[in-house]
Amino acid sequence: MDAVVCTVSGRMQSCTEFSPSSHVTRHCLPAFHCRRFPSGGIGRTLAAKLKPDYLPGAGSLAFSSSCSSSSSSPSFLSSLPKGANEDDAEYIRKCVELARKALGFTSPNPMVGCIIVKDGHIVGEGFHPKAGEPHAEVFALREAGANAKGSTVYVSLEPCNHYGRTPPCSNALVKACVSRVVVGMVDPNPLVSGKGVETLRKAGIEVITGVESQLCEALNEAYIHRIQNKRPFVTLRFSQSFDGVFLESTPVDCTTGSYYSKLLQENDALIALDSALSEDIKLLSSEVGCKQPLRIILSNDLKLPLESNVFDTSHAPSLVIARQQALVHDLEKSSRTGCQTMESLLLERGVELVAVPELNLKSALDVCYDRGFSSVLIDSRGRDSDTNFLGRQAIEDGVVEKVIVDIFPSIGSDKGSGSGLLMDGGSLPLERLSSRISGSHIILEGYMMR
Ligand SMILES: [Zn+2]
Repeated sequence: MDAVVCTVSGRMQSCTEFSPSSHVTRHCLPAFHCRRFPSGGIGRTLAAKLKPDYLPGAGSLAFSSSCSSSSSSPSFLSSLPKGANEDDAEYIRKCVELARKALGFTSPNPMVGCIIVKDGHIVGEGFHPKAGEPHAEVFALREAGANAKGSTVYVSLEPCNHYGRTPPCSNALVKACVSRVVVGMVDPNPLVSGKGVETLRKAGIEVITGVESQLCEALNEAYIHRIQNKRPFVTLRFSQSFDGVFLESTPVDCTTGSYYSKLLQENDALIALDSALSEDIKLLSSEVGCKQPLRIILSNDLKLPLESNVFDTSHAPSLVIARQQALVHDLEKSSRTGCQTMESLLLERGVELVAVPELNLKSALDVCYDRGFSSVLIDSRGRDSDTNFLGRQAIEDGVVEKVIVDIFPSIGSDKGSGSGLLMDGGSLPLERLSSRISGSHIILEGYMMR
């Protein structure tokens, strides 16, 4: 049996003995890494990563798939940069845990956590709660007060060095006379990128960067993507049967803790087709205190089922994107029949309507980017076509970064079709694969290879 060394606990144990849930309970950490050595000698180093938000619903499959993965992707390697130690890594992991308290609230800003340690004790901590509010370092410095002098500051992302809605954190750290700053990852934002670190070093502060960098990058994968590509990070989700039949209208479990509820929590917006809407569908996350995503409904002809819960905006906002031509027809019909226009019916419900010349995913993603969204979930279901219409378009447009497939425990379906996403029959490779159990379903996740 292969042995696993946990870099958090340092204990060596077999894969089957290693329990992610007990591990998390013991260390209260957001994620952990395993170094795996094949039997009979030290082989290549791999790291297994489990996402804390999925752990409650993850069964043994989720763990064993991570631990037995044959992937050797460098993005999963965990090593300490020069000058850093295991305590530094643990504090950065705690920073990530803190940062995740603002999951779903910070776009277009990143999630950031900060901890200040003096003489081995935490004297201050904080996280960035939402755009426009103070940064993580500010909260941590406030709590630390005079104890910040001579301390070590841990922060999951490089301190900012520019005047935005708040003054630079790098200056605040210099002013507080901290001795050492440990940074999870350098900020890819050109306004910051290395300048925060430079300011600190010029002031004589020791700075170490790149501690648990992969974990910090995973935390802000959507923010990084938005900054580098000028468009939101897109996740495509769809359901299928065990034998690969695309399920068009099967309900998805959205109870608290389910993978779907958490997906809605971590995305700024969700895009679905009007044909996917039924009366009972809500597209609401059940996570306590979460920020609901903007529910974007694409409509070709503005024939919308207004009785659907998606048009109840008392718990979450909704927006319809429709073809301009459909609005013209809607107005003509209203003049002819004397009935209210769909536009006014939507406005009565607090639903926003945006008209575009051509209805496609690019126009919807442009709307999302302009609103400062970093992450968008494309939920491909609905009866607009006999195949996975929305998913197919997303793949063909090349806008998808991550794919999540919800495998239902059934063979075949009377509400689906069996064709794949690519019309030309080709294939596109996925990487960084993972799997987990959510209820009675298997959830597969992979990233498009770039
Ligand atoms: Zn800042």
